Amino acid sequence: MVTDRDASPADRDASPAAALARLRALVRIPTVSRDDPAAVDAAAFARFREALAELYPRVHAQLELESVERDGLLFRWPGGDPSNAPAGGPSVLMAHQDVVPADEPGWQHGAFDGAVTGAGAERRLHGRGAIDDKGSLAGILEATEALLAEGHRPRGDVYLFFGADEEVAGTCAEAAVRTLEARGATPALVLDEGGAVVEGVFPGVSDPIAVIGVSEKGIASVELLAEAPGGHASTPVAGGATARLARAVLALDASPAPARLNAPTLRMIETLAPHVRGALRPILGSARRLRGPLARMFARLGPETAAMVRTTRAVTRLRGSAADNVIAERASAIVNVRVAVGSSLEEALGEIRRVVERHGVTARLVSGDEPSPVSPDSGPAWEVLTASIAEVFPAAVATPYVMLQASDARHFARVSRGVYRFLPFDLSRAEREHLHAIDESIRASTFANAVRFYAALLRRL
Ligand SMILES: [Zn+2]
Repeated sequence: MVTDRDASPADRDASPAAALARLRALVRIPTVSRDDPAAVDAAAFARFREALAELYPRVHAQLELESVERDGLLFRWPGGDPSNAPAGGPSVLMAHQDVVPADEPGWQHGAFDGAVTGAGAERRLHGRGAIDDKGSLAGILEATEALLAEGHRPRGDVYLFFGADEEVAGTCAEAAVRTLEARGATPALVLDEGGAVVEGVFPGVSDPIAVIGVSEKGIASVELLAEAPGGHASTPVAGGATARLARAVLALDASPAPARLNAPTLRMIETLAPHVRGALRPILGSARRLRGPLARMFARLGPETAAMVRTTRAVTRLRGSAADNVIAERASAIVNVRVAVGSSLEEALGEIRRVVERHGVTARLVSGDEPSPVSPDSGPAWEVLTASIAEVFPAAVATPYVMLQASDARHFARVSRGVYRFLPFDLSRAEREHLHAIDESIRASTFANAVRFYAALLRRL
């Protein structure tokens, strides 16, 4: 799995095939995150760390490395001429070591076997984490290793941060941010996973699009609670706790949060409008004037476009009585809320309360993070990023967007104004659908392009 040849920097094979073999070695180590920390295989993370040291020897010899919490890794590549760093300061490239479980049956190839199939453009590495996010982690390390071999030195400090609990929204990334904060490091550019190079996602656009997350929605858990006298199930009273909770849940379902076009989504539409073919073009071209109607149109087009323009709510857990024959005195539901950029936890909670309190149900914020600040889609950090994208994906139109999912990147807004979420992978819809599902895989050519992208980016830092 880890060969002797890889251990010696001098005759290390930097070919795309050898780079893919190294990613394969990493995919074969099951660094699975679990909600229950006791269920996490600590030995797998230890093996992963050892494998990294063997596979990327120059990175380990020449960069400073410190642990963050137990398994997080923070490398620092000291810059030679910080005042001349194009983005005006240090940079952080991020990826996470952990993967979601692969317990579901039906994988065509074993999730941790690292099967490689096909030839030429069809050559593909299969396994959990091939894309999310070991593909990115290995891409960053391959590029760094190659630039070190050339004797390259970045102008500003470059940090590489590899968290170990992203998939369970753990604390590793926050700890890394505290480390940077303590050092007074204020990165001009932070790059984490997020958008990608995609096709066929935006109505009327057939060109590939490089979607760069400039913000991410907030996330919250809100508990709905109905209370009423309980009693024996043989003598029920109408309008009890479960009935009221059910009415509140139905009412929430029937009254979604208002649709609004936030600033980054408007910028996305303006950026893409010139590439739209067909009847939509003039409408999207006048997006600034037509914010209201466009927001309503996006809300109707489908769940993804709807999630772009509004705070969403999904009732995920329902609880009532613990026994078949006992009437619930307390019935509760958890609403998983994704707060739109431009809104707030307070507004989202207020909207929910207005709907459910009419049914005698209370709403309480259990936990929550505000939407992330919006990073600029102009200026030095953005230019460095989009120039690197243009170098490797010349046909792609780069556009800002709001990431719908929550990621480790959100914590970095505390130390940086330039936090971007982009994976340098050209991914088909089918490939994206396999993330967090069975049969995750990456094309060899996709991975090779990612290595080229990270090298192009590092050369500019
Ligand atoms: Zn991920």
